[in-house]
Amino acid sequence: MRATALAMILMQLSRLASYLGTVRRMSRLLDRPVTPEESRTLIRQRVDARDERFLAFAARYVYGYAASPYLLLLRRAGCAYGDLEAEVRQRGLERTLETLRDEGVYVSFEEFKGRVDVVRNGLTLRVAERDFDNPFTGAGVEARTGGTRGPGSSLAVGLNFMAETYAPGLHAALEAVGASWQPIVLWLPALTNIRLWFVLSFMGRPPVRCFGIAPPDNAAAVRRRRALTTTARLLARRRGVRLSNPEESVHARPEEVLETLLATRRERKGCVLLTIPSAAVRLTGLTRRRGESLADIVFVLGGEPLTAGKAEEIRSAGGRAGSIYVFTEAGLVGVPCGRPAAPDDVHLRTDAYALIQRRRPMPGIGELDAYMFTTLADSPPKIMLNAEMDDFGEVATRRCGCVLDDLGLHTHLSAIRSFTKLTGEGAALLGTDIVRILEEVLPREFGGQSVDYQLLEMEDKQHITRLYLVISPEVGVLDERWVLDRFIAELRRSPSQGQHLWFQADTLQVVRRRPVPTPMGKVLPFHTQASAIWRDAVLAGTAGPAAP
Ligand SMILES: [Zn+2]
Repeated sequence: MRATALAMILMQLSRLASYLGTVRRMSRLLDRPVTPEESRTLIRQRVDARDERFLAFAARYVYGYAASPYLLLLRRAGCAYGDLEAEVRQRGLERTLETLRDEGVYVSFEEFKGRVDVVRNGLTLRVAERDFDNPFTGAGVEARTGGTRGPGSSLAVGLNFMAETYAPGLHAALEAVGASWQPIVLWLPALTNIRLWFVLSFMGRPPVRCFGIAPPDNAAAVRRRRALTTTARLLARRRGVRLSNPEESVHARPEEVLETLLATRRERKGCVLLTIPSAAVRLTGLTRRRGESLADIVFVLGGEPLTAGKAEEIRSAGGRAGSIYVFTEAGLVGVPCGRPAAPDDVHLRTDAYALIQRRRPMPGIGELDAYMFTTLADSPPKIMLNAEMDDFGEVATRRCGCVLDDLGLHTHLSAIRSFTKLTGEGAALLGTDIVRILEEVLPREFGGQSVDYQLLEMEDKQHITRLYLVISPEVGVLDERWVLDRFIAELRRSPSQGQHLWFQADTLQVVRRRPVPTPMGKVLPFHTQASAIWRDAVLAGTAGPAAP
């Protein structure tokens, strides 16, 4: 009994020490924000020192951490630290990473998420998602990746990482879209909001308002976040800086956001909104109905693809838009090109990441070249060495002549699409639960076969990304509302998260038509925007839901 009490006291003391450490660090970062000039210098220096930064990263997080899954793969490939160093110096970073990939030193997206074992050259590793967490992360803010692909992954994004890696990239991004001085408004899912709220505060540009896109996840997480943000607000107030309250509006209506944008523009001659493309398009519709314009409002958009249609909606309402490529595991990976060749043309942040591709099979589609990332940052939330993310797209080296080009960032990414998830309303949804419901539950209860049901993601006429539950006419007469209710009820039972986002946004509708086949003629349980062929067919009027 006494031992238990002592253990409890020790645990409380260790929590207190960790909290005090967080406060000290936060206070330092708030007192001395990263400036745009420093950011430019940092990015340039880091681009020049990529090889060294990679080697330092490998020495610390891979060779210096006995439990690293990458270390076991490197050993199996017979690559000691000295070999790696020699290879990088002789052949350069990307060539080395490609060699490592060919030797089996990589993790697929499914492995990175801990869903399948890593099997290479006779070695089988059982991995969990947390095995790829940064083992040395200091003070941080809890984050969870979007998605319904499992019990939800929790990881701490270190405050240092936010200030040292995220912030310089965001300064550069804002400069590239001509938004170096405008006040910033956030309208994002709660966890993304909180992360950006900290990053912007560490840049000396705290957001004027934070709007949430969906209700917060759970009360305990909200309490923990609130403790951190309240601390930050008190620390800032000491210096006479007022930080907005990121939890004040957890689920804002578009009208509320638009009012704020227009009022901010009136007062300050312009403003920036960080949000997801679908949300931005909703604002354009509202703006038009009210006879207003989005002139002098810059949209910085991430979390789902900024398609040509969405970009045009924003432009025709008078606004300007740029894409960022961002994911929780790595941070801000791509920043918007100032002279984009496509709406979602981003510069890969080669100052902090390396990217190679891996050709992988995708059932029903054929093969595609998935992006694989390696972190070069000092304190990344996740350790990534040839880690495949859920994305693929174009990669090009181009001299565009924008401010980012000038900083030495010459790799462009565009047409980025997720290969396993649907991206409606910024919520990520992986197929596993969906597949079971579409292929087993619905046919069993309503008739038809597995191929008679499909979840289809596409833009409607207003360029808002919507989800359609496609039911083949072959299934016969049924009550559509009933099927939809069953589908939603099943999804809610699944141990996944995020789906509430689109139900709140009321994006799911039933469409009676034959499911859309892939270019190779197969019918998959879901069909996403990844298929340009499908989109073209819709535009040409040869395919598509009957007047969605
Ligand atoms: Zn550019």
